[in-house]
Amino acid sequence: MLLERERTLVAEYGRMLMMEGLTRGTAGNLSIVNRSRGLVAIKPSAIEYLEAVPEDIAVVDFDGRQVEGPWKPSSETPMHLALYRERPEIGAVVHTHSPFATTFACLEREIPPVHYLIAMAGPRIPCIPYVPFGTEALAGSVSAGMGPGKAALLAHHGLVTVGADMPEAFSVAQAVEFVAEITWRASCVAVPPVLSPEQVEDALRRMARYGRSAPAREEGS
Ligand code: 13P
Ligand code: ZN
Repeated sequence: MLLERERTLVAEYGRMLMMEGLTRGTAGNLSIVNRSRGLVAIKPSAIEYLEAVPEDIAVVDFDGRQVEGPWKPSSETPMHLALYRERPEIGAVVHTHSPFATTFACLEREIPPVHYLIAMAGPRIPCIPYVPFGTEALAGSVSAGMGPGKAALLAHHGLVTVGADMPEAFSVAQAVEFVAEITWRASCVAVPPVLSPEQVEDALRRMARYGRSAPAREEGS
């Protein structure tokens, strides 16, 4: 099977999107690129996440031509391909309609830096003006509008995140949804104060060093 590892991960992380409440029904989509082979494993359009097995996942080339898989690829394939072209450092894309992030997208507002975890997505999470789903126009405005960060809101639609690999793109989607939810909750009490640009930059630097590692060992032990 072509791109077995990538298709297995797309099926697995699709189930995780559902289990984490980041998407509902058949909404949203996710993909992994294999740059050395010039191919992308992507969720098929309108497939049930909980039933999808690796063989169901579509494989397309960089021109969007389907190379393998029994179902037609996601309607947002042009958006995924545009991001892979624009951002050579990324290896995975996740698109969700997660409810709190989508609430901000429907208000055409950026998510303000109320919590330091915004730094997982970049200093800002821009909100890209409404463009109909599944269009080349959406692909163009997302790839141009995301900037150097790892997330963008799609007005009146949802959220798109990117990462070096699928675990990162997924974690960014989780973090954005968390910050959006906390911002909404805080806003129910008062207008929440926000972190300064310097505090967000500091969080970004700390985030770059964050991660599991072995403890430092004493010399000779
Ligand atoms: P697909 O089922 O075609 O991936 O579309 C879902 C979606 O979220 C469109 O924006
Ligand atoms: Zn969508």
